[in-house]
Amino acid sequence: MTAVPVTIGRRMPEAPVFAPGSPLVDTHSRVHRDLRISLTDRCSLRCTYCMPEQGNEWLARESILTVDEIVRVATVAASAGITTFRLTGGEPLLRRDIVDVVRRLSAIETADGPVQIAMTTNGIRLPEVLDELIDAGLARLNISIDTLQAERFAALTRRDRLDEVLLGIAAAAASGIRPLKLNAVAMRDVNEDELCDLVEFAVGSGAELRFIEQMPLDAGHTWDRNRMITREEILGKLSERWTLTEIPGRGGAPAERWSLDGGGTVGVIASVTAPFCGDCDRLRLTADGQLRNCLFSTDEFDLLPVLRDAQATDAEIDEVLRRCIWAKLPGHAINDPSFLQPARGMNAIGG
Ligand code: SAM
Ligand code: SF4
Repeated sequence: MTAVPVTIGRRMPEAPVFAPGSPLVDTHSRVHRDLRISLTDRCSLRCTYCMPEQGNEWLARESILTVDEIVRVATVAASAGITTFRLTGGEPLLRRDIVDVVRRLSAIETADGPVQIAMTTNGIRLPEVLDELIDAGLARLNISIDTLQAERFAALTRRDRLDEVLLGIAAAAASGIRPLKLNAVAMRDVNEDELCDLVEFAVGSGAELRFIEQMPLDAGHTWDRNRMITREEILGKLSERWTLTEIPGRGGAPAERWSLDGGGTVGVIASVTAPFCGDCDRLRLTADGQLRNCLFSTDEFDLLPVLRDAQATDAEIDEVLRRCIWAKLPGHAINDPSFLQPARGMNAIGG
């Protein structure tokens, strides 16, 4: 059986027939190498820019992909040129089988060698599981931290758990897993006076701070462009403390990067004011088996019925991957007046 893409408001281009195993290329010649896998929509925090305090509609438990299902999709994706799997959520460390997920994914081989496993986490639970994760094959880690001040953290995440996040970062710093990156969403009247402190903290932890422009992906739909801190503002604040020297060779990476005089580096992900859609090589699998070709897409391609049909073949999974990629638009439309925020919040899409 074949999953039917849901299309809202426009015609889906007809996908040509590609041979399974050929690269995942879209209508704008972008070759896809990176699959973001959301393992759960649940989380131990409630960041205001991501989730509501209450009233979140959780994904149905029976729709959450099993490890076998995730590995099956990943294996098909790897044979079509995906080389990196980034595990995210929600909070990926809330999956009880997280070590098994990492171990099994990292065993996938491509023609060019083993795949790379990366993870984005809020850091809580890292001290318990990091050694096992590294042993299982985790190669890269991003930990999110928006403030170093306990009261602010509690207000922003609606949970008083800064100490646990700091212990997670300390465990990662001590483990030697590199590259280690810390993610911070820059927010007006929340942490805008802390940007340099966050960079210093990251450098001291052997990590790179990456500031993310806040995007309209909060489940409460409260994003306000006028309150967003832009790339230019971030760079302006950092320039008051450091001389920034741009690091060339960004490729398809979302972050622009600078080195700091005195040592260390910093990155900025300017998804709103300087979108990098032309180089995007990512696609996403949600915890309930929906393929998305963009963070902001309003279309999803349902793999769940394929995965749960005992007769369905890997070629059918491959076909859904290609249909999803083929429907990818040239860019997101955040800056367009007709922009429609996706129905899912970031926690259910997978950041
Ligand atoms: N729970 C994990 C974490 O916080 O790292 C992984 C999932 S979270 C959705 C992934 C990343 O998305 C985090 O770095 C978070 O700060 C970022 N994020 C969430 N909502 C965002 C928004 N509205 N704008 C920009 N970044 C956002
Ligand atoms: Fe949870 Fe990460 Fe969303 Fe914060 S950003 S609520 S830690 S999923």
